[in-house]
Amino acid sequence: MSRYAKQVLFAPLGKEGQERLGRARVTLVGLGALGSTIANHLVRAGVGFVRLCDRDFVELDNLQRQVLYDEEDVRSNLPKAQAAAAKLARINSETKLDPRVCDVNPANVEDLARDVDLVLDGTDNFETRFLLNDACVKLGRPWIYGGCVGSYGMVMAVLPGEGPCFACLVGELPAPGSSPTCDTAGVLNTAVGVVASLQANEAIKLLAGRREALAGGLQTLDVWHNTNQIIKVPRSPTCGVCVKRGFTHLESASSAATSLCGRNAVQVVPPAGSTLDLAEAERKLAPLGKVRRNAYLLKIAVDGCELTLFPDARAIIQGTADLARARSLYARYVGS
Ligand SMILES: [Zn+2]
Repeated sequence: MSRYAKQVLFAPLGKEGQERLGRARVTLVGLGALGSTIANHLVRAGVGFVRLCDRDFVELDNLQRQVLYDEEDVRSNLPKAQAAAAKLARINSETKLDPRVCDVNPANVEDLARDVDLVLDGTDNFETRFLLNDACVKLGRPWIYGGCVGSYGMVMAVLPGEGPCFACLVGELPAPGSSPTCDTAGVLNTAVGVVASLQANEAIKLLAGRREALAGGLQTLDVWHNTNQIIKVPRSPTCGVCVKRGFTHLESASSAATSLCGRNAVQVVPPAGSTLDLAEAERKLAPLGKVRRNAYLLKIAVDGCELTLFPDARAIIQGTADLARARSLYARYVGS
């Protein structure tokens, strides 16, 4: 307990709240700017179990805001889930960490959310948030939404059965390109830090059993224009998810290829259960150019793009945002 002395001393949390944190289990989806700050807070605060899910690897332009990573992680081509777990294990060896280098999709989201008390959103896209919302409402798991673009951000805890869900808040899935993204509007690391801290803050209240302290609405803020407020969000009486219990995002097939926010890159996802032997792939691809491989991934430059292949047979193809081109590169160099 001495590690957490300052926190235990804070009366509304106290020893009992701290003990609850130690027994708590969370799944964190996305380990970019929001996710790495959330993980840092929760692990330092003494949350007992943290599952770390991310599909991507660390790159130089992540370091401006993704606080768990450093230049050595970039040089080593580490997946974010592994780099984050290595750093967090050095911060607090008492927290059990479960790194997962994976795409969170309809095939696996329920398994990732089922055995935990809370799910946290560290993603950068509406598609995954609607998927998390479906899974968490279906399973009755609370989850905490966070979003940030430019200097603006918002946070809302979704408590299934008690309050509005994400679909009550935003309605339908917005059309691609209709809302600003970090790709088009940039993002301040300070704004991300505040939003992620508010998410971790709501998480700590929930996990410590202090629900009365939750914000009770949508928290919005703008760190450049100096505004912040809490907006009451009503539960929609006709919500397709939390009222009618239709889980269309869970039932849809995983997209075979998706464009990655801000990356000029496409992720190609093979059917669930696929595997790729990286050593075998290296042998096959070596005649085409220099292959770099570690325990978690393999990289090669071909046809003006960089292919990164993972043991679950996923590929991230950088240098194109064209889904059809990415799929054709995948078919050519990995196999369909
Ligand atoms: Zn709803």
